[in-house]
Amino acid sequence: MTVAQAFSPDYPTARARFRSAASARGFRLETHPIAEDEDLTVDVAIGGDENPSRLVVVSSGLHGVEGFLGSAIQTSILEAGPESWPLPCGTGLLLLHALDPFGFDRLRRCDPANVDLNRNFLLDGESYSGSPAKYREIDWLLNPRTPPGWPDLLLIESIPAILRHGKDELKRAIAGGQFDFPLGLFFGGHGPSTTRRFLEEQMPRWVGVADHVVHLDVHTGLGHRGNLALLLEDTVTPDRVRWLSDRFGSDRVEWSGEGIAYPTRGGLGSWCQATFSDRIYDFLCAEFGTYSGTRVLAALRAENRAYHWGRPGDRATRRAKLALREAFAPSDPAWREATLAKGLATVRRAFEVCFDPTVVA
Ligand SMILES: [Zn+2]
Repeated sequence: MTVAQAFSPDYPTARARFRSAASARGFRLETHPIAEDEDLTVDVAIGGDENPSRLVVVSSGLHGVEGFLGSAIQTSILEAGPESWPLPCGTGLLLLHALDPFGFDRLRRCDPANVDLNRNFLLDGESYSGSPAKYREIDWLLNPRTPPGWPDLLLIESIPAILRHGKDELKRAIAGGQFDFPLGLFFGGHGPSTTRRFLEEQMPRWVGVADHVVHLDVHTGLGHRGNLALLLEDTVTPDRVRWLSDRFGSDRVEWSGEGIAYPTRGGLGSWCQATFSDRIYDFLCAEFGTYSGTRVLAALRAENRAYHWGRPGDRATRRAKLALREAFAPSDPAWREATLAKGLATVRRAFEVCFDPTVVA
């Protein structure tokens, strides 16, 4: 299969390929409807041992439109066949396809309630409220309450804000998550999302008795173009960070607050690690760079603006959506080839890491 074929052009195609490849490969396939009146599903393929002690998890599309690469990685594994991906005794492979099927299908980065799902997994005792002060200050700039116009003045308008706050501080304020602007970018929700409730219900069954889980949650749009960064939760111990850096590469592994990573609230990783704290659960947010941070943010802003304030299906809205897809899944064959290869190599590494006996908790 060529790289061009590995990437699907849309969600229905991606899902159909995932399903048929999982069945052909003999994986157990589960299809979970996630919307009442629409054919949107989270599809799950499970391979290997019935009750594995070592489990590799690869999830895609937690951020909807970011699902193209994750889906390509998952489907490539399934389509390559058992000779290329043998599952040794005691190992399991769990593939979670399109955790936000709505966003994947509609080319949005959030769910039907405008929720950024990777800000929605607050832990017990945390409340779905509050926003960085700087987010409040620049809400007018990030989330204009008017239909899309031309030219988009984000770049010019944002210069004073950048000068006032500094680029890094601004990045933290914008992307770290907010809980007060339901139509705004990076909104973490006012309660547990459908996807979260679904995972709360199903994850314990899938994880089962595994005593070591390595989970790669595939994202795009952050970091240098074509680069892969493996972001760890800031609650991971320094010893564990070192252990993972030694195995996945110190140039890849990043900890919150370092490199391109920034502290966020309500991440899926912290929830997985808190839920399965009775075993070793390594969660790596695999971030693949696409375009510059400014371009990605401008695309997010334009699509969000068109979605809430524009007319559905008109030219401006359609243009904003295609620009968002390009921002998170570049059509450039060189980008696709490089990121798919890095993604597959990282899944291979995850299997080796799973069996590494020198475990440091
Ligand atoms: Zn993401």
